[in-house]
Amino acid sequence: MTQLFGKPLVTQEAMRTRIKELGRDITLHYEHKDLVLVGILKGAFMFYADLARAIRLPITVDFMIVKSQQYQGKTSGKVKVLTDLTEEIKGRDVLLVEDIIDSGLTVQYLTKLFAKRKPKSLQICALLSKPARRQIDVNVHYVGFEIPNHYVVGYGLDHQQQYRNLPYLAVLDPKSVESP
Ligand code: 5GP
Repeated sequence: MTQLFGKPLVTQEAMRTRIKELGRDITLHYEHKDLVLVGILKGAFMFYADLARAIRLPITVDFMIVKSQQYQGKTSGKVKVLTDLTEEIKGRDVLLVEDIIDSGLTVQYLTKLFAKRKPKSLQICALLSKPARRQIDVNVHYVGFEIPNHYVVGYGLDHQQQYRNLPYLAVLDPKSVESP
């Protein structure tokens, strides 16, 4: 499988180092707070598991499974919630863990959705950001890596629900996928 994608865009080693740093920053910020770490699935599952282990605090874990609704092949900004949280977040400090911020529409939608539930605070942590693709200004508090405008797979991110288990991040090569 790894041969389809050539060299990693972000290696496992770089991922480990950066996630440790993010974990340290988040630990400092949320000390003595009631942190609910919310993973946005499926894309964030691998990042979430590593990030949670890098946070040295007693946290509550929870997840939301969402599907971005596409319109003519593009993110519409509407998100369908397939599986909702199990925890009450009212009055608690919520950190959303996302895989990638592209146009920013998904995270804008989720921010509004979560704000309605009246958390004490709401912040966003994304493994990746593609600033060149941004359509709206979103406030992302923690970003692992800013990457160029390529479609990437691996480390939780998919192409047609596959390649999420690639242990590093790679640029998808459409030619390889068509004729493996
Ligand atoms: P946005 O709403 O910011 O445009 O898109 C966010 C969602 O689009 C992400 O959560 C992810 O599911 C998907 N996405 C955006 N860029 C990529 C990419 O390069 N690779 C993959 N696999 N998914 C992406």
